[in-house]
Amino acid sequence: MSENMNNAPESGAKTTNFIHQIVENDLMEGRNNKRIHTRFPPEPNGYLHIGHAKAICLDFGTAEKYGGKCNLRFDDTNPSKEDQEYVDSIQEDVRWLGFDWEDRLYYASDNFDKLYEFAVELIKRGKAYIDDQPADVISEQRGTPTRPGIESPYRNRSVEENLMLFEKMKAGEFPNGHCVLRAKIDMASPNMHMRDPLMYRIIHAEHHRTGNKWSIYPMYDFAHGECDYFEGITHSLCTLEFEIHRPLYDWFVNELATSEYRPRQIEFSRLNLTYTMMSKRKLLQLVEEKLVSGWDDPRMPTICGLRRRGYTPESIRNFVEKVGITKTEGIIDVALLEHSVREDLNKTAQRVMGVLNPIKVVITNYPEGKVEMMEAINNPEDESMGTRQVPFTRELYIEREDFMEEPPKKFFRLSPGAEVRLRYAYFITCNEVIKDEQGNITELRCTYDPASYGGNSPDGRKVKATLHWVSATENVEAEIRLYDRLLMVQDPSEYKDVDFRDMLNPESLKVLKKCYIEPFVYNAKPLSHFQFERMGYFCVDTSSTTEKMVFNRTVSLKDTWAKQQNQ
Ligand code: ATP
Ligand code: MG
Repeated sequence: MSENMNNAPESGAKTTNFIHQIVENDLMEGRNNKRIHTRFPPEPNGYLHIGHAKAICLDFGTAEKYGGKCNLRFDDTNPSKEDQEYVDSIQEDVRWLGFDWEDRLYYASDNFDKLYEFAVELIKRGKAYIDDQPADVISEQRGTPTRPGIESPYRNRSVEENLMLFEKMKAGEFPNGHCVLRAKIDMASPNMHMRDPLMYRIIHAEHHRTGNKWSIYPMYDFAHGECDYFEGITHSLCTLEFEIHRPLYDWFVNELATSEYRPRQIEFSRLNLTYTMMSKRKLLQLVEEKLVSGWDDPRMPTICGLRRRGYTPESIRNFVEKVGITKTEGIIDVALLEHSVREDLNKTAQRVMGVLNPIKVVITNYPEGKVEMMEAINNPEDESMGTRQVPFTRELYIEREDFMEEPPKKFFRLSPGAEVRLRYAYFITCNEVIKDEQGNITELRCTYDPASYGGNSPDGRKVKATLHWVSATENVEAEIRLYDRLLMVQDPSEYKDVDFRDMLNPESLKVLKKCYIEPFVYNAKPLSHFQFERMGYFCVDTSSTTEKMVFNRTVSLKDTWAKQQNQ
């Protein structure tokens, strides 16, 4: 793998979390009366993805670990893109991941009145002013990191005039963009974010919670720290791009604070995954342009997509734990995520046999109409899961790729004259290959050795292959969907000039219509997990019904991550 994966943990290495060290230190020093209070602050403008899972596990996990609390706060300060659908899905996904905000569900919009009052207070202190200049002029005057900004001609407006104008902004008397409220800090600061940042802008839009009450909305930098303060947050964990905003965060909080208590912003590196795109804007585009079937398409990196694909909450939490929390930007191999779900499902998933690409086998010396029940182990990793009975009949299906008419040297599976074991059943030998007029193989005629009952060798005779199989008469017919990566490129961030639609893998979904699975899966509920022996982990799709069962392959059994680690 490429060397830019500097974030990838070594196998077996202790996971790192520098934030826990900071928290422990704060506890030792008795900061904020030894309270630990975090929050997860999604903006309800899309569905949560695997990157958010990292933040969720960190926010809720840190609180859990140190006996603190974690709030769920919707950061709904931009009315134009927010929606109740997102609010609902986010709650569902956080709960599904296994976290609980108890009665602490908040919205930044709950604080709109308090934020407004505080803005008025800042105006009164001479620390905020209304700027009538257009956005491009304000931006131009802000300067560059090496060139100081220029003060706005409106910077020294009187408090009275500012109050009057702010009141009018609030009353909806101005059109969008007519003016803004800015904090009066320092136009020469080396930190661009301190150069009189915007606090409020005019947006005439209906808000998903406050309706048409407001025509001004607070900026993220202003609202976020203040909401942290109102909620009593002690550790405000966010991604690295906010590091440079931290002095501004502290400035607003210090203006507001009336006691010793201070929330503290700590930044960590965001999760990037190979072959994965996490921009909410692009994920929304995939959905809107119907390039995927929806937010929960099993190819999506969304939490609901991963859930439908067959990922478990445990596997995602374990993955985040393995990635660790650092300040180093990097890209994590998606094989680690796949490894995590294999590791979890290996311990818990019910084993069954299923044939994806069937070819018929007729056991010519087996009685017609006979159904023999064979005992099979439900999970070799967990004896307590017991055994089940699998029906064996004269006509069976095996995997087409398990037969070769003219096998190369190292092919040990079924071929003319060869003997193999049918798992939990019998040894069979292939005697005849039946073909249609085009020469396609339609059936294999085999004989079985009754003395090999249960798949045991009758006389110490060895076979080199054990095949899975399904009765051709006693089975469940199902549709199976196989997935490959949605993106064809390892690191999409290296292709900034390429339209992401051109990076989509046209082969990311393969639908197999006539697959056969042993009767055990009949009636299995949507989202139940199975290992189809030799074929991978599968999950019953949310659209599956008793009449038409549909399975998604979560992952194949080939663990590329574990393999790399063992090299
Ligand atoms: P937007 O551009 O819409 O703000 P966002 O991905 O930052 O997108 P938020 O809803 O603001 O979305 O994110 C909520 C929280 O999740 C934030 O604290 C953010 O830092 C964190 N987060 C988002 N993406 C990642 C990621 N890839 N890795 C880790 N944390 C993330
Ligand atoms: Mg954000």
